[in-house]
Amino acid sequence: MNLDNLNKEQQKAATHTEGPLLILAGAGSGKTATMTHRIAYLIDQGVSPYSILAVTFTNKAAKEMRDRVEKLVGPCPGMWIMTFHAMSLRILREHYYAAGYDKNFVVYDTVDQKTIIKNIIKEQNIDSKQFPQAYLSAIISKEKEADSAPEQFLEKTDGSPKAKVIYNVYKEYQRQLRANNAMDFDDLLLNALHVLRDNPDILAQYQNRFRYIMVDEYQDTNHIQYQIIRMMAMAHQNLCVVGDDDQCIYQWRGADIRNILDFEKDFPAAKVIKLEQNYRSCGNILAAAHSVIKNNRGRKSKKLWTEADAGSPIVYKRCDSDKEEAYYVAQEIDLLSGAKDCSYDDFAVLYRTNAQSRLFEDALKRRHIPYQILSGFSFYERKETKDMICYLRLVVNPADDLALRRIINEPKRGIGPTTLGKLETLAKVNGQSLFDTLSQEEVIYSLPAKASVSVKSMMDVMKLCQQEKDNLRVSDIYDNLLVKTGYLKALEDENTLEAESRIENLLDFKSFIYDFEEEKAAADEKATLEEFLERVATDSDTDKYDNESGKVTLMTMHSAKGLEFPVVFMPGMEDGLFPGHRAMDSENGIEEERRLCYVGMTRAKEKLFLTSAAYRVLYGHGEYTRESTFLRELDKSLLDKDGDSIYEPSRRTDNRLGVDTGSFDGYSQNPPFRPYNFDPLKYAKQSVKESAAGSAEDFIEGDQVTHGKFGHGIVVDVDAKTVTVAFDEGGTKKLAKGIAPLRKV
Ligand code: ATP
Ligand code: MG
Repeated sequence: MNLDNLNKEQQKAATHTEGPLLILAGAGSGKTATMTHRIAYLIDQGVSPYSILAVTFTNKAAKEMRDRVEKLVGPCPGMWIMTFHAMSLRILREHYYAAGYDKNFVVYDTVDQKTIIKNIIKEQNIDSKQFPQAYLSAIISKEKEADSAPEQFLEKTDGSPKAKVIYNVYKEYQRQLRANNAMDFDDLLLNALHVLRDNPDILAQYQNRFRYIMVDEYQDTNHIQYQIIRMMAMAHQNLCVVGDDDQCIYQWRGADIRNILDFEKDFPAAKVIKLEQNYRSCGNILAAAHSVIKNNRGRKSKKLWTEADAGSPIVYKRCDSDKEEAYYVAQEIDLLSGAKDCSYDDFAVLYRTNAQSRLFEDALKRRHIPYQILSGFSFYERKETKDMICYLRLVVNPADDLALRRIINEPKRGIGPTTLGKLETLAKVNGQSLFDTLSQEEVIYSLPAKASVSVKSMMDVMKLCQQEKDNLRVSDIYDNLLVKTGYLKALEDENTLEAESRIENLLDFKSFIYDFEEEKAAADEKATLEEFLERVATDSDTDKYDNESGKVTLMTMHSAKGLEFPVVFMPGMEDGLFPGHRAMDSENGIEEERRLCYVGMTRAKEKLFLTSAAYRVLYGHGEYTRESTFLRELDKSLLDKDGDSIYEPSRRTDNRLGVDTGSFDGYSQNPPFRPYNFDPLKYAKQSVKESAAGSAEDFIEGDQVTHGKFGHGIVVDVDAKTVTVAFDEGGTKKLAKGIAPLRKV
């Protein structure tokens, strides 16, 4: 295999396959690129993809890494390239019984978590001023990161009334998760750790399988993740970790920088390779980033160099107010984007907190500059998407009371809070789930007349989907739920602009399902509903980032990790905002913020803008500000003297090895041809309805049919409710009429 594209050190790292290896290197030095080539090299050397495990920080990074590897060496079935959470989930799916869960357990996201905690606060009559939900959620999460169960938490405390309140909430929270056959995010890691730690046979199975293990962004692993990886790698010791101590930005979420600094202690045989050439940024940008990060004390000293020229100077602009700052950024983008060969996706605005985003949105809108925002109110948190996800979750896991509670009256089915309360009490008394309770005819008939009919019809649809789950594509199930539960119709009947935009979102979500199905098909894997829901639960903001969108990207610096952009704006360079108030109280806090500043600056390839506002309103509170500590540290000789800026995209790095996103190696194609009066929304609605109609046709024995999932076959038997088909591939299947996506040919 040809590794000529890599430099000497990168080649060394890629070909050092046996024994522990630490690739320690600064931003943009090709760590991710090297890891990708290392995987390809292993496979080229005859290692089975089946024995390779590579851990990335986001699902999107995982997908890209797989694509790159497969481009280099062809299809790699059985290889695990995924995030820690996805890996834990996989392990738990395979060994759910060892974790004490049912096969169909679900994963709760932060919205679900919030709902449960809020309910507990109400149920236990807790003063939510003294114990806000966010505070309780944070404590619970911290405890889980420290592998500390409610009892252990209580032991650690002084047993004060306050500690008892938290203990009671934590305990009840865990109880409810269990009862709903659900795990939250932290549980995923924790349960995977426990399964591996407490079951030597299961651990051995993974140890034997994964002879080669790699972890990107290792500096941001937390203690639980670290233990999982360490255990799995113990047998073969072929662990390669890749990271940069200067880029550890998740300590507040439990990441432990010592994991990377102590790697050589844990694995005394470790070889260390440093990469020092930066391929991403111009000289000035690198020097500026270095002049800031060098003020951190607890770091392994390293300095990057580049063959690239110095590039244009760093622009710093102090604006009078936050509004003016946003105006300035939008104006610069407007000016610069006029350059030849320039596209809006060359630009990123990276801010410290989501609260800063709104002004930039306003300013960009005013100039008609398209943008994508990758933080704040996320895709999955939209009401209608979340509702549909709950429907889907119930298909997989009927015990999910939280989901059922959410959708039982969505659309309106005449189930008010009182009726719901009664149903819940009944379920509790009988020790059953809500779903099982509603499955009893006498319960259904005891409901008010209107509710009785509509709930029954919903339950029938749900059961049909549950029963036929494995015979349908995820998108078929989705269509059926959307149409047959009355959800789509209720929105259509509303006939408002808002409802219309909700429908758009729901169809948007469907394209997301299609993407998932296509991706799976390309990897020759089954696209199951279970896995789709896992994807939904484990996706992060960054996973929605599209580097060929033709839009300016707005995101937090945290989400920008691993990405690169030709032009980067970092607004809000003010003490109290960046570094933040709380961070400024401690040396550790400041150092973490400084690393974040380094991450932000090193995302830029060609041009870097820093701005601050003399007056800023944040969270409804206006204040005069002081320029950021980090600005004071910055080497002033690198700054643009007159603040004027020109930008000519040079395509210098041209993304030869481009592994990460953010690079501009590819422009969106022309849109496909559409008929003149094509209404995409109408068309999409139509197709959803058609697909949900299932087969209205009557079949007789001997009919030739095609099925959405199983392809071509022949009808061999028909009765009142089912059609039995012998498929060319995949055997004979009995399918439910009215839902099976069958068509005569
Ligand atoms: P980060 O610390 O931000 O995660 P990284 O160290 O993982 O960065 P990469 O993203 O792998 O760096 O690489 C940065 C850029 O440099 C990419 O555009 C990549 O294609 C390019 N690159 C890496 N190595 C080489 C090389 N040997 N020759 C040319 N370009 C390279
Ligand atoms: Mg990287």
